[in-house]
Amino acid sequence: MSRSIAENLKQIQSRIQTACEKAGRDPSEVMLVAISKTKPGSDILEALESGQIHFGENRARELQQKMDEISRDEIVWHFVGPMQTNKIKYMVERVDWIQSIYKRKYLNEIEKRASKIGRVINTLIQVNISREDQKQGCDPENVPGLLKHAQSLEYVRVCGLMGMATYAAEPEEVRKEFQLLKQTFDENQHLNGGSVKLDHVSMGMTNDLEVAIEEGSTMVRVGTAIFGERNYE
Ligand SMILES: *Cc1c(COP(=O)(O)O)cnc(C)c1O
Repeated sequence: MSRSIAENLKQIQSRIQTACEKAGRDPSEVMLVAISKTKPGSDILEALESGQIHFGENRARELQQKMDEISRDEIVWHFVGPMQTNKIKYMVERVDWIQSIYKRKYLNEIEKRASKIGRVINTLIQVNISREDQKQGCDPENVPGLLKHAQSLEYVRVCGLMGMATYAAEPEEVRKEFQLLKQTFDENQHLNGGSVKLDHVSMGMTNDLEVAIEEGSTMVRVGTAIFGERNYE
C-alpha cells in the first residue's frame, strides 16, 4: 500500500467502472464517498486535489475537528456513524448528508434543529441488513413506518437507504444482504411523497463494492482502498 491517494482514487474509479460495465449500469449512477475516519486532514486535502468531493466520517467529534481544520466549502460531508442526540444540533449546521438514521426521534430532532436555521438535510435510513445485534440500523419491516413519518417533515429529506454488510473475507457471501437492502428500497417506492424521495441505495465498501454495484448500489463508501489501512477504528 505505498501508492498515493491520487492513484488509489483512480484505481477505485476503475473498479467502479468495471463493476458497472459488468452490471450494464452507467458509472455516473454510482457516487463515491471517501470515508476518511481516523485519517488526517492532509489526506482529505490530497483526495480533494484529485477531484474527490464527497467525504464521510463516523464520529461526530472527529468530523467536527476536521471540518474546522479543513474548512473547504466545496467538500460535501456525510455522517455515516452512530447518531447521538446531543450532536445533532451541530451536525445540521454543517453536514450535508446523514446516512445513519433509524429512529423517529432522530428524524424529529434533525427537523427541529434544521428548521431553526432553514437548512435542509439529506438523510438515508440505515437498515440492519446483517441482522447482527451490534450493527446499527432498523429492521426492514420498520422502514415503511419511518418513511410515512418522514413524509410530512420539511427540513429532513429522506433520499434512500443505507446498509452495512457483515464483514466477510469473500464478498460473494454478503450478496444476499445487499439484495435485502435493494429489495427493501424497491418495495417502499410507493411511499415516495413529501420529503421522501427514494433515489439512493448506499452500500458497498472496500471489500465488497463490486457485489454491491451489481446489486444496485448508487453510493459506495470507501475508506481503506483510498487512504490505506486504519490503525484504530
Ligand atoms: C469505515 C466505514 C466504511 C469504509 O470501510 P472500508 O472497508 O475501509 O472501505 C464505510 N461505511 C461506514 C459506515 C464505515 O464506518
